[in-house]
Amino acid sequence: MIYFDNASTTKIDELALNKYNEVSNNFYYNCSSLHKGGMDSHKLLENARETILNCINGSIGDTLLFCSGATEANNMAFFGMPRKNAKILTSIGEHPSVFTTSKMNNLNVDYVSLDSNGQVDINEYERMVKENKYDFISIMYVNNETGAINDVEKLCSIAKTTNPKCIFHSDCVQAFGKIDVLVDNLGVDAISLSAHKINGPKGIGALYIKKGTHFNPINFGGGQEFNLRSGTENLPAIVAFAEIAKYKVEKLDDNYNEVKKIKNNILSIFNENNFHYKLNGSLDASPYILSLSLCGVKGEVLLHKLEMDDILIGTGSACSSKTADNRILSAMGNSKEEVFGNIRLSFSPENTMEESTFVAKKIIEYANYLRDIKG
Ligand code: PMP
Repeated sequence: MIYFDNASTTKIDELALNKYNEVSNNFYYNCSSLHKGGMDSHKLLENARETILNCINGSIGDTLLFCSGATEANNMAFFGMPRKNAKILTSIGEHPSVFTTSKMNNLNVDYVSLDSNGQVDINEYERMVKENKYDFISIMYVNNETGAINDVEKLCSIAKTTNPKCIFHSDCVQAFGKIDVLVDNLGVDAISLSAHKINGPKGIGALYIKKGTHFNPINFGGGQEFNLRSGTENLPAIVAFAEIAKYKVEKLDDNYNEVKKIKNNILSIFNENNFHYKLNGSLDASPYILSLSLCGVKGEVLLHKLEMDDILIGTGSACSSKTADNRILSAMGNSKEEVFGNIRLSFSPENTMEESTFVAKKIIEYANYLRDIKG
């Protein structure tokens, strides 16, 4: 089987799986228990927190709240950080866990457009920020559908120059472990992370909060996670997350170069064969994601044809694939036909060049076939 749908989720790495099993077997205690089992488990929890804070260059006093994934982390950011009546800005290109959340509870939210590359329109952003002096801004680092990379450092700096009290949050799910996510360089106040996009376990993520940033909990109970996110900690998943995060950050450059070769190989094969495609996003987007529009082809039909050869790909985001329209591709100026013809290939360093050659040739074969029978 060839798996090119790694932006939706990844296979758990042995390193993470072994840690998960080890902690499940040996540290099944409640981190809040007062006996030695609980104390030892609590130590592991704090070590994992420190490991991930180190991966993102967090400083002393910063907080990392473990939670069930980035959906929860994004919800916590939206409902826990802005003060009452805060003016909020996000983009039209955000993941549903930000976009849909931003529509809830009568929040006062504006939306900045995307340019044709899928990045936040920087001129519009600057104008809106200067005009409205937002209190809370949330802009993702890497888009999950197109791989478009936002210049978070610049966006954050514009926001803070205009309003030093502005809280800047970034959904870094598709960036972490793949490109540098260093909170001190970016200047952000909060970021969301998820383990299952980097070969960690599913159902575990974190919200990073910079020291001094306003945050109110959105769930209540036993007071775990510094009274900020109640619920018994999922220690096996947390320790496995830290293990894989450290590994991915150490291998970041090697892995980046590997997946870049894979993405480039596919595009070269398309070009050598005069294959007609439209790249959604610029060439300097994340090499982990390749979003294409194939006119005259329905992306979903192509997905199922490839499936018969044991090739698994995606169309847009797995989280929104049940909806007919595509908010993000449309916002980039794609026509209806281009939206329908969308496929998303997303890679992991475990993928091989041979796989990419095979898949590229199959896409050409099936897309040309589908175009022929249609034409
Ligand atoms: N943000 C982005 C950019 C994502 O790609 C995803 C996963 N599709 C999420 C948030 C949600 O993450 P989780 O599955 O951990 O809730």
